[in-house]
Amino acid sequence: MSCELKKKDRVGVINPIFTCQPAGAQVNIGVKDTIGLVHGGQGCVMFVRLLISQHFKESFEIASSSVHEEGAVFGALNRVEEGVDVLLMRYPDVKIIPIISTCSTEIIGDDIDGVVIKLNEGLLKEKYPDREVHLIPIHSPSFVGSMVSGYDVAVRDFVNYFAKKGKPSEKVNLITGWVNPGDVTELKYLMGEMNVEATVLFEIEGFDSPVMPDGNHVSHGNTTIEDLRGTANACGTIALNRYEGGKAAKLLEKKFDVPAIIGPTPIGIRNTDTFLQNLKEMTGKAIPESLVRARGKAIDAITDLSHLFFADKRVAIYGNPDLVVGLAEFCLDLEMKPVLLLLGDDNPGYKDDSRIKDLQEKVDYDMEIVMNADFWDLEDRLKNQGLELDLILGHSKGRFISIDYKVPMVRVGFPTYDRAGLHRYPVVGYAGATWLAEQMANTLFADMEYKNNKEWLLNVW
Ligand code: SF4
Repeated sequence: MSCELKKKDRVGVINPIFTCQPAGAQVNIGVKDTIGLVHGGQGCVMFVRLLISQHFKESFEIASSSVHEEGAVFGALNRVEEGVDVLLMRYPDVKIIPIISTCSTEIIGDDIDGVVIKLNEGLLKEKYPDREVHLIPIHSPSFVGSMVSGYDVAVRDFVNYFAKKGKPSEKVNLITGWVNPGDVTELKYLMGEMNVEATVLFEIEGFDSPVMPDGNHVSHGNTTIEDLRGTANACGTIALNRYEGGKAAKLLEKKFDVPAIIGPTPIGIRNTDTFLQNLKEMTGKAIPESLVRARGKAIDAITDLSHLFFADKRVAIYGNPDLVVGLAEFCLDLEMKPVLLLLGDDNPGYKDDSRIKDLQEKVDYDMEIVMNADFWDLEDRLKNQGLELDLILGHSKGRFISIDYKVPMVRVGFPTYDRAGLHRYPVVGYAGATWLAEQMANTLFADMEYKNNKEWLLNVW
C-alpha cells in the first residue's frame, strides 16, 4: 500500500488540466466597478473570456492591450496608456483597472509598475482629476505557476493595494477561492445562520445574473472598494483554499495583525464542521440548531447512498488542488477509493501540505498523487496501464476521456460548460455535500443502467 506524491515523468504537456497565470488573475471579475486590462496578445483575454462565459453562461467585460509585432519587439507600454484612457472614457463608472501582465510582456520587460506611476502622475491628474481611479499592477507571467497561483497573486495584490488600518470591526474576511455563485450563496447562508458578518473576496454571486425587464445584464462582481479597505480591520480572515487566497490571508496577518485561518476547503461534512468551528472560535458566535439540522439532513442523504453504492468505488480526481484534496477527503468519508489525484501544476508547497500528508498516512490501498499532471496521465493509465475506474471527478476539459473510456464522470471545478446550470449549485457546505453525493450517485445509477450492471438494485433500495 502506498500513496506517493510524484511529478509526471515526462517533459511537455499533452492536453493540459490548467491554463496560465493571467487567467487566474482575471478572476478579479469578482470586484465591483472593475475592468481588468490584460497586457499581452489579444488571445490571452479572448480564450479566458470564452472559458468564463461558457462556464457561467453569462457575459462580462475584460480588456486587452492587444500587443502586436511591433510592441512585442520594442515594448508596448504605450498600449497600456491608451488602453487605460479608452476604458475610462468608455466606462464612466469604472474605478479599478488592474493591469495584468502576461508571458510576452514580462519577457520583453514592460514595466507595468512604472507605467502606473506615469499614468497616476500624468493622464489621471490631467484628464480625470475628479475621478476615483485605481490602477493596480499584477504580475502574472504564464511561465510561472498556473491559473491557480494567478488567482492567489491577484487577491493578494488587490488586498495589498486597498487594505487600510482603521477602526476594528467584527467582520470576518472570507476569501472563497475559485468557486461558483452557488457556493457563495451557501457560504452566506452558513454565516447568516451564525449571525456572522463577512467581507467576501472575490464575490461572484452576481455571475448568476437575471434577465430584467429593462434588458439583459452584463455580470459584475460585488466586492467593493470599501470592503477591500476594511479587510485590514476585520477580526480575522478565513481563506477557504490554501492555494487560492492563502497569500492574501498571510499578508493581512503580517501587515495588519489580522489573524488568519487557511483551509480546510469546506467540502464534505467533516470540513464544513471545521469551517463552522473556525468561525465560532474567531467570532465567539454559537453554531445554531438550524445548522445542526442542516448537517443532519446532509448526513441522512449521504447515509442512504454511501455503503450501498459508493463503497470501494475507484475514483480519479483532477483540477484545482484545494478542490481535488477536498473531494478526495469527501470520497474517503463516503467509503470510496480515490486512486488517482491529478494536480495540474508543480507548486513546491504540495509536499508540505498537511492534507496531502494526511492522505499519505491514512490510505490503506494504492493511491497516486501526480503533480504537473496533464490529461495524458489519466488517459495513458486507462489505455495502457490497466487502470480501472468507476468514476471521474473533474472539469469539462476531461469529457472526452470519460466518453472514450466509458467511465462515468461528475463535472466539478472550472470550467464546466457541457452540463447545464452547474454553477448554480454549491459543492461547499452541507448543501454541497448533499449535492455532490447525489450527483455522484445519480451518475453511477445512469451508468449501471447503460451498462446493464446490477441496475435491478435500483428497484429495491
Ligand atoms: S500562455 Fe502566455 S500567450 Fe498564452 S494565454 Fe497565457 S499569457 Fe497569453
